[in-house]
Amino acid sequence: MKKFNKPGKINKFHIIAAVLIIGAVLAGILLNQQPEHEKITYNEFLQAVEEGKIEKVYLNHSDQMQGEYTNGKTFVTDNPRTENLKESLLVQDIIVDEMNDQIQGNQILSMIATLSLFGVLIFAVNRKGFKQTQGKAGKSLFNAVLPENVNVNFSSIAGNEEAKDSVQELVDFIKNPEKYARYGARLPRGVIFYGSPGTGKTLMAKAVAGESDVPFIAVSGSDFVQVYVGVGASRIRDLFKRARSYGKCVIFIDEIDALGKKRDGGVDGGGNDERDQTLNALLSEMSGFQDNEGIVVIAATNRLDTLDEALLRPGRFDRHIEIQLPDIKSRLRILELHSKNKPLDKEVDLEKVAKQTVYFSGAKLENLLNEAAILAARRSSESIQTQDIDKAFYTIIAGAEKKDRSAISEQDRRVTAYHEAGHALVTRLTAPENKVTRITIIPSTKGAGGFSMNIPPDRMYYKKKDMEASIKIALAGRAAEELIFGEENITTGASNDLEKATGTLLNMIRRFGMNAKSGLLNYDVLYNNGFREVQEEVLDECRTRMDELYEEVKELLLKNKRVLEAVAESLLTHETLEEKDLDLIVQAFAKAG
Ligand code: ADP
Ligand code: ZN
Repeated sequence: MKKFNKPGKINKFHIIAAVLIIGAVLAGILLNQQPEHEKITYNEFLQAVEEGKIEKVYLNHSDQMQGEYTNGKTFVTDNPRTENLKESLLVQDIIVDEMNDQIQGNQILSMIATLSLFGVLIFAVNRKGFKQTQGKAGKSLFNAVLPENVNVNFSSIAGNEEAKDSVQELVDFIKNPEKYARYGARLPRGVIFYGSPGTGKTLMAKAVAGESDVPFIAVSGSDFVQVYVGVGASRIRDLFKRARSYGKCVIFIDEIDALGKKRDGGVDGGGNDERDQTLNALLSEMSGFQDNEGIVVIAATNRLDTLDEALLRPGRFDRHIEIQLPDIKSRLRILELHSKNKPLDKEVDLEKVAKQTVYFSGAKLENLLNEAAILAARRSSESIQTQDIDKAFYTIIAGAEKKDRSAISEQDRRVTAYHEAGHALVTRLTAPENKVTRITIIPSTKGAGGFSMNIPPDRMYYKKKDMEASIKIALAGRAAEELIFGEENITTGASNDLEKATGTLLNMIRRFGMNAKSGLLNYDVLYNNGFREVQEEVLDECRTRMDELYEEVKELLLKNKRVLEAVAESLLTHETLEEKDLDLIVQAFAKAG
């Protein structure tokens, strides 16, 4: 329910506001009549400190601070109000005067100005009300949602079973730190949830708090991105101080990228002081946790690979849990969950809706049902009907950006299905001891299409035939595309596969002496000893061998085309197949001969 301000009515708040504003303006004018202070930016101030040009700084609690250069001139600059500013100035032999007892005229004015402005600000914030006390921290930074108000637990999340399993352990850690302490086990400090927007990362983090029965503090990385050096860092310290005051709790940092993006050293080269300081503050607060204190930091990002490695090191955010887009089964569960409190018509076939909503995130599904509910309400219909859902569906699809996955074409789905089926089938045929954990045509953040995980058994040495098998498995996606859709319709979807295959093959030839023609010579040694022509030779060998392997893969798939089709069609229907589903299909054909 939205609260509207009644327009046009003058009340005592307006009068207070007017007085405060007039005060601020007056004081501001008077202040400006004191021209002897040079106004410099905080960065200029830091520069001057570094160059030893500053003699004295007057520190107070306003947002401006004054000082004297060594040449006697004075300046004003912004006061970052960081805890350690005084110390860092003292270290540089600068006199710091905390002006409590010698307030001068213009300082009084500046205080009035600041106080008035503060008044106006507080007044404005208050007017906006406290509707932000729950959920993502907006205006009210760092306020926790207390356990009795969290209202979210694992049953509020449909699908995401694997993530829930991983997270379950976290809950146990928070609930029973003593148990783990007894074994000398350390509580995990930082966890990263990664996955597309709307997949329920925030929901999952909240559920961790709900399940553990501890407060939930939600902030966003961008809350800490500040212009003044040191402000973000001091906010981080505030955040953790606040968290500690609750004892056990879950801190959720949404959009951690804002703080912890990889340093590219490129355009804004040399890094960004403010951000580095903030990030360091976060890391040092995290390493300052007492073991088994019961505070867990969960951070969310859309893409894990854009984060600074410093964040991901052991003892920091060293647990990474993927929150995936839902497949057809999970979509049905999410739809069922969110239609519980809605008058859904008996005729509505949620299974059909689940089928229709490929690549929809949980948030989008929730939105779909909500839009449908609004449409039904507008029609004053007894219940939400199929027509409402259809209409909502097309509105959402039409409003989606082009690059959005929901608008992905049926043809793209087919290509992905055959590509992935190719990988999976060739794995079964050439390296049956490899585990295929999951095949899916739902894109993950790791790749454009689906991916099939191929885990070769752990071993110390790899045999030539294993390496060749892994090249063939990598090539099988492209080979399946070519076989089914024709040479001119092959896609860019194989780019990572080709990178992997090339790398493996090159190693076999250059370093492992596994190529008949090149024999046992190590090409790098040859090259370093002046045999430059070996470069051409390696290239020729790679090309020939890769072509041979590709032909073999195509032949293999051609011979098993009906199995390939069965796997691909099954993927198109179910979107995700487990290893046992794949085995069932392969075995069925083996029996049929
Ligand atoms: P993210 O943080 O990944 O962007 P959110 O947690 O903010 O996503 O998800 C937004 C909303 O979408 C949730 O509050 C919930 O209503 C719905 N939602 C998303 N995923 C799920 C899910 N797996 N089960 C139930 N609801 C979900
Ligand atoms: Zn592939």
